[in-house]
Amino acid sequence: MAADEEIAVDVVVIGLGPGGEHVASRLATAGLDVVGVEERLVGGECPYYGCVPSKMMVAAAHTLAEARRVPDFAGAAQVQPDWSPVAQRIRDEATDDWDDAVAVKRLEDAGARFVRGRGQLAGPGRVEVGGTTYVAAKGVVLNTGTAPAAPPIEGLADTPYWTNRDAVRLTELPGSVIVLGGGAIGCEFAQVFARFGVRVTVVEVADRLLAAEEPEASAALEKAFAAEGIQVLAGVEVGSVRHADGSFTLDLGDQEVSADKLLVAAGRRTNLVDLGLEAAGLDPDATSLETDERMRAGDRLWAIGDITGRGAFTHVSMYQAAVVVRDILGEDGPWADYRAVPRVTFTAPEVAAVGMTEHQARESGLDPATATGDLGTRGWLARDEGLIKLVANPAEDVLVGASVVGSTGGEVMSMLATAIHARVPLPTLRSMHFAYPTSHRAVESALAGFGGSGV
Ligand SMILES: Cc1cc2nc3c(=O)[nH]c(=O)nc-3n(C[C@H](O)[C@H](O)[C@H](O)COP(=O)(O)OP(=O)(O)OC[C@H]3O[C@@H](n4cnc5c(N)ncnc54)[C@H](O)[C@@H]3O)c2cc1C
Repeated sequence: MAADEEIAVDVVVIGLGPGGEHVASRLATAGLDVVGVEERLVGGECPYYGCVPSKMMVAAAHTLAEARRVPDFAGAAQVQPDWSPVAQRIRDEATDDWDDAVAVKRLEDAGARFVRGRGQLAGPGRVEVGGTTYVAAKGVVLNTGTAPAAPPIEGLADTPYWTNRDAVRLTELPGSVIVLGGGAIGCEFAQVFARFGVRVTVVEVADRLLAAEEPEASAALEKAFAAEGIQVLAGVEVGSVRHADGSFTLDLGDQEVSADKLLVAAGRRTNLVDLGLEAAGLDPDATSLETDERMRAGDRLWAIGDITGRGAFTHVSMYQAAVVVRDILGEDGPWADYRAVPRVTFTAPEVAAVGMTEHQARESGLDPATATGDLGTRGWLARDEGLIKLVANPAEDVLVGASVVGSTGGEVMSMLATAIHARVPLPTLRSMHFAYPTSHRAVESALAGFGGSGV
C-alpha cells in the first residue's frame, strides 16, 4: 500500500478491547464499512492478561481452599498444589498462547477490516496507521484502554518486577512474593499465590486493602487474609526498591521487606499518550476523556472503556459499546447511566459493590442512611462469614449503594444492583420473599436495619 494513501470508510475503531471489538463487529454486521485498528491483541487486556486468566487462577485457588475444608466437614483429603494445570489452562483455553487469530477471524467474518498497528488521530474523523490515513464519514471510536502503571519509587524502574502481564504467564511459582498494591488486582493475585503455598506480603500505601470500598469490606478481607497467613502492610510509604542476589527488598522506613519476586499492581495508566488527541481538539495531556451520555468525546469522536474513567471493568466497556452502536446506527437509547455500576473483587470472601459507598454518598451531597447485616442464614450452613452494607437516600426512600462481602458476594449483589438501577422503593424491597436458606436472604435482615414496615 502506498504511503500517505487515503481510504474512505464509515467508522474507525482505535483499540480493540472488549468494547471496541464489539462496536467494530456490530457496526460491520449492520452493513457499515468499519476498520478496526489494534496494535497488540484483539480483545484487549481482559481475555489475555486480565479478567479471564486471573479468574482461572482464582477458580483453581478456590478449589484448593475448598479441599482444605474437607477435614472440618466431611472426612479427609490430601491437597498438593500444582501450578502446571493452571498455567496450561490459561495458555490453551484462555489465551491460545497469547494469539488472537480466532478473534481477528471473528471480526473479519463479521465484515470488518482489521489493521494491525498503532492508530493515531489526524483530525476529526481521520486516523493514521502506518502511513495510511482512514477518513471516517461517521467518525472514530476510541477504545485504547490501559497499561500497568509503576509508581515513581526510587530504584523500582531498574528492577525486573512483574506486572499482571507477567503474572498470568507464570509457569511456576516463586517461594515468596511481595504484591505492591492492595487494590482489586493485587488482592486477587495475593490470595491465589498464597493458596498455592507462596509466602505473600501485600504492601499498600493507603491505610487499608480495597481502599475505595467500604471500610467494613476492607476489614473483612484483611481478617480473611490474616487467617490464610498473608501479611498485609497497609499505611506504609515505600522509600525505595532494590534487587540483588535474586531477591527484592522494599525499604518502608522503619522496616524492610524482602521476597523472591515483586508484583506491582499499583494502578493503571490510560493509553492516551501520543494518540493525537490535539488533532481532535482535545487536551493531549488528558488522563481520561470526558464523554456525554452517548459516549461522544468530540466532533465525530466517541470514547469507551477504561479511558472514560467510569469504572475500569469489562462490563462498563461493553455497556458503553452498546450505547455507541445505538448512537451511530441512529437508534434510540437508553443512553449511559452510571448510578448502578457493579464491581467485584474475586477474593475469598468476594467483595462486591454497586453504586455509591457511604463516603461517596456523603461526598455527593446526600445525607445517607446505612444498614448492615451479616450472612446469617448461610453462616451456620457452610461457616461462611460475610456482611451486607446498604446505603439509602432517605429523601427518596431508595438504595443508592450496596456492598456484599461473602463467598457469593457478586451474585447476591446483583439483586441490589437491580434495586438501585430501577429505583425500587425500600418498602417494596422489604415486602419481597427471600428464599431460605440462601445468602441473599441476608438482604432482608439488612433492610430491616432501616426500620419501617416489612412483611
Ligand atoms: C489482572 C486484571 C484483572 C481484571 N479483572 C477484571 C474482572 O474480573 N472484571 C472486569 O470487569 N474487569 C477486570 N479487569 C479490567 C478489564 O480488563 C478492563 O476493564 C477491560 O479490558 C476493558 O478495557 P478497555 O475496553 O478499556 O480496553 P483494553 O482491554 O485495555 O484494550 C485496549 C486495547 O487498545 C489497544 N491500543 C491502545 N492504544 C492503541 C493505539 N493507539 N492503536 C491501536 N491499538 C491501541 C491495546 O493494545 C489494547 O488491546 C481486570 C484487569 C486486570 C489487569
